[in-house]
Amino acid sequence: MTLVPAEAVKNTKSAAVQTCKQMNTMVYYTDAAASDREGIEKGAEILRKGGLVAFPTETVYGLGANGFDGEACKRIYEAKGRPSDNPLILHISQINELHLIVREIPPVAKKLMDAFWPGPLTMIFLKSNKVPKEVTGELDTVAVRFPSHPVAMALIREAGLPIAAPSANTSGRPSPTRAAHVAHDLSGKIDMILDGGSAEWGLESTIVDVSVTPPMILRPGAVTKEMLEQVVGNVGIDPAIWEKPTAELRPKAPGMKYTHYSPKAEVYLVQGSREAVTEKINALAVQDQRAGKKVGVLATEESKDGYNADVVLSAGSRSCLEEIGANLFRVLRQFDEVDIDVVYAETFPFEGEGMAIMNRLQKSAGYRMIKAE
Ligand code: AMP
Ligand code: MG
Repeated sequence: MTLVPAEAVKNTKSAAVQTCKQMNTMVYYTDAAASDREGIEKGAEILRKGGLVAFPTETVYGLGANGFDGEACKRIYEAKGRPSDNPLILHISQINELHLIVREIPPVAKKLMDAFWPGPLTMIFLKSNKVPKEVTGELDTVAVRFPSHPVAMALIREAGLPIAAPSANTSGRPSPTRAAHVAHDLSGKIDMILDGGSAEWGLESTIVDVSVTPPMILRPGAVTKEMLEQVVGNVGIDPAIWEKPTAELRPKAPGMKYTHYSPKAEVYLVQGSREAVTEKINALAVQDQRAGKKVGVLATEESKDGYNADVVLSAGSRSCLEEIGANLFRVLRQFDEVDIDVVYAETFPFEGEGMAIMNRLQKSAGYRMIKAE
């Protein structure tokens, strides 16, 4: 394991990093199995002292602070530019830590824990009075996750604390799936980045509220509705995840009401048969290019050769939606690196694994959808 300044991380836009530099962000490389302990021990010490450490999880990189220390948690909001009413997720590394932070564990939660923890599932419980208001945004509930990534597990266990952690990106940007993404957004603003390679799932955890009956999905993720229903029967889904939030239709996960996952370009989703989508996007690209805009297409392996835009990036094969999910945020960030003005993105099924992908794409497009006929 080596210690290097954050600017040395590959793909980091060092100019952007240096202009916002306020502190020295250390980067420790560690193997994804966490067998090398140096970075883990250093990170745990920083967390115990109230500092901020970004670390890999199986979903995306998280930005961690001591979950019992309100002041440390406030620093997460400052570093990310996160609105204070968007609560954090408490990450645990042993089931017995759950009893410290929640008032009760409903039977349905017990079943879901047995089936999906450790893993990419966050559950909403009634909170105990040990949890500071900075974690929950003053709500009476707390979000808890038990991640399965060996580096996350080792770090949390070594710190000996529940770790409050949202995604380790600047608020509004696509979530980070690599240490270089974290360095790009947060270098100079946090104490340390533990670089453990690419996040496996690439989309944030499924959030399920288990404090209501039936349990309700507040954010779709790798653990699908179908997988949850196999374990606990009927599961609801917050209708607000599909619509542009309004005063009447407020998402139950406060974070879902904010603009999210946006590259600098304007993103439009284009829906229809494969041929119609290709034709429509090519026609739109010609118009935009005539107007002096640089056009990008978020395509798939099956379709990528049919486009005549400036930059065409494939997120993976339609036959493997997990691959699309794992690559989505990285590809959205790549459009920024080549200064694209407009991105046209293909769409995916609104069900199964496609639900999480479409939820993130709709938010990144500000819910703009073009029908191709
Ligand atoms: P992030 O990890 O960056 O995706 O942010 C955590 C997500 O969990 C945000 O969308 C929050 O709104 C959501 N969240 C955290 N705590 C709660 C809670 N008590 N109730 C509902 N949603 C929550
Ligand atoms: Mg986030």
